[in-house]
Amino acid sequence: MRPSDLLVPTPAGLHCPIADVHVDPMRPVARALITHGHSDHARAGHGAVLATRETLAIMAARYGEDFCGTRQVAEPGRPIDLGGVTATFHPAGHVLGSAQIAFEARGLRIVVSGDYKRAADPTCAPFEPVRCEVFISEATFALPVFRHPDADGEVAKLLRSAAMFPERAHLVGAYPLGKAQRLVALIRAGGHQAPVYLHGAMEKLTRLYEANGVALGDVRLVRDVDPKTLAGSIVLCPPGALGDLWSRKLPDPVAAYASGWMRIRARARQSGAELPLVVSDHADWPDLQRTVLETGCAELWVTHGQEEALVHWAKGQGLAARPLHLVGYGEEEEAA
Ligand SMILES: [Zn+2]
Ligand SMILES: [Zn+2]
Repeated sequence: MRPSDLLVPTPAGLHCPIADVHVDPMRPVARALITHGHSDHARAGHGAVLATRETLAIMAARYGEDFCGTRQVAEPGRPIDLGGVTATFHPAGHVLGSAQIAFEARGLRIVVSGDYKRAADPTCAPFEPVRCEVFISEATFALPVFRHPDADGEVAKLLRSAAMFPERAHLVGAYPLGKAQRLVALIRAGGHQAPVYLHGAMEKLTRLYEANGVALGDVRLVRDVDPKTLAGSIVLCPPGALGDLWSRKLPDPVAAYASGWMRIRARARQSGAELPLVVSDHADWPDLQRTVLETGCAELWVTHGQEEALVHWAKGQGLAARPLHLVGYGEEEEAA
C-alpha cells in the first residue's frame, strides 16, 4: 500500500478514502476525526465526529450540544476499527484533549499530529512520539529564529512586574482555549496564590478545564468585581480585548501578551504589549526537528506554517518531504 492510498489531501482536508473519513475538515463532512478543539481544526456541522472526550466537550461548549449529528469518544491508545483501517489517538501536548491520530492499514502507519508541543504543560497530557512511516506535521514556528524559552521563566517576569508595580493591574492577552489555562497553572506554580481574574470570554472553557481535573486555584471574573479594585491583580483577556474600552476600566494596566510570536521584536512592538511573554503552545524549531526524527519516519508531510523551511531541512536529513498546502489551518496563529 502506498501512503496516498491511506491518506490524501483534498480541499475539505486530509481524507482517508478506505474509511471515508476526514481529519480536521475545513467544511462539513459525513465523518470527521478531530485532533483538538481550536476553531481552525474543530468546526461545527459534521455528520459524525470521533474525538477525545475532552475535545468533544470543548466543541459542545463552543458550538452548542448539537454541533454534529453523532459523536464517538476516542480513548487514547486504543485502536478504533474504521473498516479496513484503524485509527488510534495519542496525546499531542497542545491543549486539553489534543491528540495525534495514527492511521494504520496493512503494516503502513501514518501519524497526523495536528498542532503539538514538547514543552511541559500542567494542563494537558504530554506529547508521545509514535513510530511511523509517514509523519504529518505543522510548521507554525519552523524557522531557526524560533526557540521558545522556558514558559515558567516568562511567567516569572510577569510575577516580578506585578510585585514591582502594585498600583497597576497586569492585563495578559492570551488565547482563550489552552493558553489562558496554562498561564494560570504556571502563575500558581510560580507561587502566586491571590485570585486571578478573567475576562468573561474565558469563563466557559476555564470552568471546563477545572471540571476535567485541572486545578487552577482561585479564579474569578472581572465582571463580578469593581474593576478599580484590581490594582496589583493579574487579569487574563483574549488578545483582542487588550487595547479595547473594556481594558480601560482597570487601574493603569500593564499590557502583557503571551504568544510564540513575541520572539520576534517587530511583532512584539506591533502588538503594543508593554510586557511581551514568549509562551507558545506549538513546538519550536529544535522541537519540530527532534520530533520528526523521534518518529523514525521515512517521509514527512507538512500541513501549514513555514512549510518550505521544514521540508528543506527534512530533505537534508535524507527524508522524503513535501508540503500539503492545506488552506484553513493556523487561523488562531495570532495567539500561537
Ligand atoms: Zn491548535
Ligand atoms: Zn492550528
